[in-house]
Amino acid sequence: MTKRDRIGEPWGGRTPYGRGAEWPVRVDTHLAAGVGEEQVERWVQSASLLHSNGDAMDIAVRGGEVVGVRGRAVDRVNRGRLGPKDLFGWQANASPDRLTTPLVREGGALVPTDWDTAMDRVVRRSRELLDEQGPSALGFYTTGQLFLEEYYTLGVIAHGAIGTSHVDGNTRLCTATAAQALKESFGCDGQPGSYSDIDHADVIALYGHNMAETQTVLWARVLDRLAGPEPPELICVDPRRTEVARLATVHLAPRPGTNVPLMNALLHEIIRTGRVDHDYVEAHTVGYRELARQVEDYPPERAAELCGVPAESIREAARVLGGAERLLSTVLQGFYQSHQATAAAVQVNNVHLLRGMLGKPGAGVLQMNGQPTAQNTRECGADGDLAGFRNWANDSHVADLARIWNIEQSKIPHYSPPTHLMQMVRYAEQGTIRMLWVSGTNPAVSLPELSRIRAVLAQQRLFLVVQDLFLTETAELADVVLPAATWGEKTGTFTNADRTVHLSDKAVDPPGQARPDLDIFLDYARRMDFRDRDGQPLPQWHDAESAFEAWQRCSAGRPCDYTGLSYAKLRGGSGIQWPCDEEHPDGTERLYVDGAFFSAPDYCEDYGKDLVTGAPVEPTEYRAMNPSGKAVIKAAEYLPPHEAPDEEHPFALITGRTLFHFHTRTKTARAPQLDAAAPQVWVELSAADAREHGIAEGDVVEVTSPRGAIRAQARISHLRERVLFVPFHYGYWDLAEDGGRSGEAGDRAANELTVTDWDPASKQPLFKTSAARLTRVGPAPTPAPAPTNTASRPVSPDVPGTRGGADAVAEERLAQERPAEEPSAEGRPDTTGGPR
Ligand code: SF4
Repeated sequence: MTKRDRIGEPWGGRTPYGRGAEWPVRVDTHLAAGVGEEQVERWVQSASLLHSNGDAMDIAVRGGEVVGVRGRAVDRVNRGRLGPKDLFGWQANASPDRLTTPLVREGGALVPTDWDTAMDRVVRRSRELLDEQGPSALGFYTTGQLFLEEYYTLGVIAHGAIGTSHVDGNTRLCTATAAQALKESFGCDGQPGSYSDIDHADVIALYGHNMAETQTVLWARVLDRLAGPEPPELICVDPRRTEVARLATVHLAPRPGTNVPLMNALLHEIIRTGRVDHDYVEAHTVGYRELARQVEDYPPERAAELCGVPAESIREAARVLGGAERLLSTVLQGFYQSHQATAAAVQVNNVHLLRGMLGKPGAGVLQMNGQPTAQNTRECGADGDLAGFRNWANDSHVADLARIWNIEQSKIPHYSPPTHLMQMVRYAEQGTIRMLWVSGTNPAVSLPELSRIRAVLAQQRLFLVVQDLFLTETAELADVVLPAATWGEKTGTFTNADRTVHLSDKAVDPPGQARPDLDIFLDYARRMDFRDRDGQPLPQWHDAESAFEAWQRCSAGRPCDYTGLSYAKLRGGSGIQWPCDEEHPDGTERLYVDGAFFSAPDYCEDYGKDLVTGAPVEPTEYRAMNPSGKAVIKAAEYLPPHEAPDEEHPFALITGRTLFHFHTRTKTARAPQLDAAAPQVWVELSAADAREHGIAEGDVVEVTSPRGAIRAQARISHLRERVLFVPFHYGYWDLAEDGGRSGEAGDRAANELTVTDWDPASKQPLFKTSAARLTRVGPAPTPAPAPTNTASRPVSPDVPGTRGGADAVAEERLAQERPAEEPSAEGRPDTTGGPR
């Protein structure tokens, strides 16, 4: 057994393995100080809620409190490993500042009240607005961190019982492009690939995906392959010198906003060098000719000029991609939150279609998710899609849903595409949305152009309901605040980025009067007296398991079929990948194994969009283009970003995350080890730019965009020149009493700077293409408060390294070091027969 500081060494120790072998089991454990495993009373099965990887873990309970976590050896996703946010994040649950009673606004201030009073206000306002203005006056904005059962319930209430199309999740900021890119190419959302493709790939290409920080356990799997025989080659596309870039065979660091010409040049080279699998293309795709014509105009020299990347590096990357026998590609925010997001992400799919690299071990695409339950937001219809990946533009899909919900078809809004979040904000600004119910997300810090967002949310005429664990910056603006239970305090399921469904059982009671989000939504439905066509309550379920069973009926026959799953089947063993039905009782490791896609006109989730304008493709047009449901190869022309650097704002500003935090830090800043690793905001810049501006490590600088300014200490890192990076986690809740925005330090939220603009197809806001100016304010006595073992690694060797100390030590136990009988969920010996 090894003990290791998992803040200083976030990816833990190495367990090398070779190509095609099984990833060894290693179980990571962290318990509260002074607690040994023998003192744990119960281990309760769960999975991680602070990223999308779906690391399976057991929650340690003693005296009615969570006292630690341990990875589940039996699980296919992590085989026992945990990352820093898994190991330490659970402490936030017991924070003394959890919301424990509902709050209502009285005389301008939020005051504690009881559930009846709070819910009566929500119900009264809902009824008034429905009477006065109809369903479109109500909007719902949820998260990627509730459970499947909660999203499905919310989707039924919003789309079915109320009939509003204004429902979206913060997955819009995160992985709306993943969903859209999959729909464009394969006719439907759902990852073609699987994490186990890492075990077989000879080339892994990461596009705008800093896996080392966003999915630490997945990265540990890659590191273990790199440390074993026949290691894969890595291709990294990222303007930052991330940990991925440091180990890559080829690192391409394009100018922000130029992913499309880069991808076009890679495709150009793959075609030019004869690396296309023409049999596959002919049998399984449409659109190849148009792509070949389009990318002909993108020789590496042209892309080199547009992207600021050497033509030779582009050629080298294309050679590696073209020579791969088993190619795995992953994509994330560098593409999704950037200019021409869907167009660029689709080109990654095209590489796989051209090379026939789908549906076999090691050959897959992971258009990654960021949040733990983002996949469920999308598949359950809480994000602007209809439940079960049904196509809003296909009347028979809408009729099917109406039959399942036993309501009139006309009740489900399908006269236009569902409203995306940025449009909902605009409707609230204009006054047509008059009630907004925000659950589990913090738009007052996470949306672009915060001065505008604060003004919209603070309007008198907008009735704002916020359901959360803490009094966030958004909750501060609410009319009613509802205290929610979180992970470990409620039961439900969720699905990770490779379609693995996990069960998370309740371990302890929520604090005070806090309630599971499911109970809150069901309570609202009951008080509103929603009914189906037969006068029965809508929804009819009453707890998590009955909600899951209702969802199974809704998913039947659709690509995300859950009918072969049950709570009993998910309890005790590994998570299981959907589709899981009679035909695939153990789940499905890879989609599109035989080149059969979900894209038939009558079955597909989406007919696709024009990648430039976002206009939906008409059903008749789609049917003519793709009558037999093949994969669609879609070409894209490069268009320059709307806000490019100029003389006044000479830097391209990108925002992003760091390994140790999640979103607006509502949980991670309340875990001492995580908070200490990255306690304050910083600004990253290159050494050349630092020299030109006379800036030293740690100096205070001001970053100004056309929308606002922030102050922070400077980290001189290995970033591309003329680019600034600001982590987006830092809002104001933990500053001074007044919210900290009037202090001398100035604003600090990255989104004070970002622009209101979005990708035309996925409607995902752009956080990677704003223009900014940099000014030195003065010296500071310390280096920037940025981690040194991540992409924010300093150029200077004198900056003290990031360490967690004694409190951040976790145990790592290899298979042979584990006791033969270890208690699993519910205190029983684990008899599931998985790897030990
Ligand atoms: S940090 Fe980024 S990728 Fe991760 S969940 Fe949030 S928005 Fe998504």
